[in-house]
Amino acid sequence: MQIVRSVTRMQKLALKLKKQGKTIALVPTMGALHKGHLELVARAFRMADITVVSIFVNPTQFAPHEDFSRYPRNLALDCKLLRPLGVDIVFHPQPQDIYPTGFDTYVVPEKIATILDGESRPSHFKGVDTVVLKLFNIVQPDFAVFGRKDLQQSVVIKQMVKDLNVPVKIVVAPTVRDADGLALSSRNAYLSVDARRRALVISRSLFAARQLVLSGERNTAKIRNFVRRQLVKDAKADVDYVSVADAETLAELRRISGKIAISLACRIDGVRLIDNVVLKVG
Ligand code: AMP
Repeated sequence: MQIVRSVTRMQKLALKLKKQGKTIALVPTMGALHKGHLELVARAFRMADITVVSIFVNPTQFAPHEDFSRYPRNLALDCKLLRPLGVDIVFHPQPQDIYPTGFDTYVVPEKIATILDGESRPSHFKGVDTVVLKLFNIVQPDFAVFGRKDLQQSVVIKQMVKDLNVPVKIVVAPTVRDADGLALSSRNAYLSVDARRRALVISRSLFAARQLVLSGERNTAKIRNFVRRQLVKDAKADVDYVSVADAETLAELRRISGKIAISLACRIDGVRLIDNVVLKVG
């Protein structure tokens, strides 16, 4: 497993591999890897000749008041987790290499970036799209694997790839959870024991909402309220949003039909957590 830090070297290496006819799968991450990331890596490994994992805490997707500087970073441990999975290349650039002095071009998603997470994090998806397109240009992947845990992110990226004719196939892998239901996230490390216990309400309320839908409930307002009440009452959470939307477009629904996503974002003791369930209604 090679660790490549230079953008130029990574791009040269990728172009050489492509010339040799190799296919490349990329898993973009911010490091602090957990089993959720490792599932994406296993998926990438099965898909292409060369597996590349990028580890880059992307400054442009954090607002000034957010947790960029305290975001957990541990390259040595991440590499230890990746080595046994057959990863070929870990791409670990520095911010000044991705955004050198004079950097002046961004990818700006429009409507899709104004709702849900985009509403409380206004420039977040601009940072995401920009770094993802840069990573695609540097790593030259045929496939890129993302997690459904960040559902809106995957929708924003698919839209960018479609709109800008980017020749990369986007693969979205299911959310990996702890045994008690909490979706794995690098940010779970910020939770105190008590906050983590209350955070279990997130997945529990989503699973219960899914059950309501499966038992025939079709009124989306009722479902949103049902989830929100539990978050406020049982988790003492500050709710950013609870959404019942079309799973492909994330447009809010009045009545349930087709493939839907029930998703939420909330803060528990100041830690912002997101989660969702996706289901198909006949
Ligand atoms: P991050 O490093 O947290 O930005 O995430 C890197 C990738 O891992 C993104 O595509 C996330 O959606 C994905 N991911 C994060 N947590 C999980 C999880 N619990 N299950 C599946 N994928 C995840």
